[in-house]
Amino acid sequence: MREAQGFITLVCRGDRSTMSTAGKVIKCKAAVLWETNKPFSIEEVEVAPPRAHEVRIKMVATGICRSDDHVVSGHIVSPFPVILGHEAAGIVESIGEGVTSVKPGDKVIPLFIAQCGKCRRCKHQESNICMKNDLPSKYQGKLQDGTTRFTCRGKSIHHFMGTSTFSQYTVVDEISVAKIDAASPLEKVCLIGCGFSTGYGSAVKVAKVTQGSTCAVFGLGGVGLSVIIGCKAAGAARIIAVDINKDKFAKAREVGATECVNPQDYDKPIEEVLQEMSNGGVDFSFEVIGRLDTMASALLCCDKSFGVSVIVGVPPDSQILPVDPMLLLTGRTLKGAIFGGFKSKDSVPKLVTDFMAKKFPLDPLITNVLPLEKINEGFDLLRSGKSIRTILSF
Ligand code: NAD
Ligand code: ZN
Repeated sequence: MREAQGFITLVCRGDRSTMSTAGKVIKCKAAVLWETNKPFSIEEVEVAPPRAHEVRIKMVATGICRSDDHVVSGHIVSPFPVILGHEAAGIVESIGEGVTSVKPGDKVIPLFIAQCGKCRRCKHQESNICMKNDLPSKYQGKLQDGTTRFTCRGKSIHHFMGTSTFSQYTVVDEISVAKIDAASPLEKVCLIGCGFSTGYGSAVKVAKVTQGSTCAVFGLGGVGLSVIIGCKAAGAARIIAVDINKDKFAKAREVGATECVNPQDYDKPIEEVLQEMSNGGVDFSFEVIGRLDTMASALLCCDKSFGVSVIVGVPPDSQILPVDPMLLLTGRTLKGAIFGGFKSKDSVPKLVTDFMAKKFPLDPLITNVLPLEKINEGFDLLRSGKSIRTILSF
């Protein structure tokens, strides 16, 4: 703390003539969630300067993901009060001591899955769950040094997954931010911060969808549609989109679904419908909703011998999915992944480069754009099934 203050004073003196905000507390607007099942409240918050190995970011755009709503509903447990938001893009305003990978003015994407690059899991080729992550089941709502940078009405406000992007300014650890192409459109590539990468990676990296295969995707939100984009990119021959909201089918077809089914149109369980449609079971299935019953259906609908089922949806806090081991004994694989299995700091800049090279689209995922002040309207659109992604602009 003492060390950081020294640094702050120095930067303040150096920048006084340019009216820089570096080293100063910034007062700005943020959407604060004071308790579960309540609307967000637009408040003036104080954002402290970044300490050593931290970065303060001026937010430009942030998407609304179902995982944020899971905290509002209590499906994901997080300490309150909190500033949510984890799918965003912005510009570095200032950096703390020792930061080397970004500098003021850089375009960046905050990373809700950190990558320290040094721990046992970061060094493992297949893993993307850095040991420094603040993950579900034990969210602390703090930065790496165990404190917060937000204050509102005299109270300390928790961070969310190390990102907290529903704020005009946020502070993140250096291991939780990636520099991206200076030419990239932030109001689009913000989706690479969560929904797009999670879905796309679940198909191409986690399931490793194969050419000519049959896939079933349960849930056609921003993440599920991105799974479809990934299945298509991997060369799947059939992509069966499953949702109880038929209004989602047109968009699913637009991004690559070959068939769409609504479980409510059938008298029998959806897994049986899908088994019949695929001559015994699909090659790859994805649960992209966050419900135990659809996780079971997704597992059951894949082939009992070579089927691979991937859990992408976040399950409700502390609930158990009972699985008959016989379902796996015959050879099925059940797996799951956060952020599509991508190592965040390494992969996010590459995904942005791929987007700039037109290797995949993001436009179909963006249905609404609203100012931060209308965040509650944005969440209502998600809850009523009327939006895919709403982008909040600052
Ligand atoms: P979303 O709410 O936009 O989409 C969910 C879709 O599921 C909706 O279209 C809805 O109509 C459909 N649905 C709801 N109940 C259904 C049912 N019983 N049967 C069939 N369809 C049903 O959500 P999203 O933002 O796309 O996120 C999807 C899930 O992925 C959420 O649980 C979210 O928390 C999770 N998620 C996980 C990660 C990760 O890293 N694994 C990252 C982001 C989001
Ligand atoms: Zn998300």
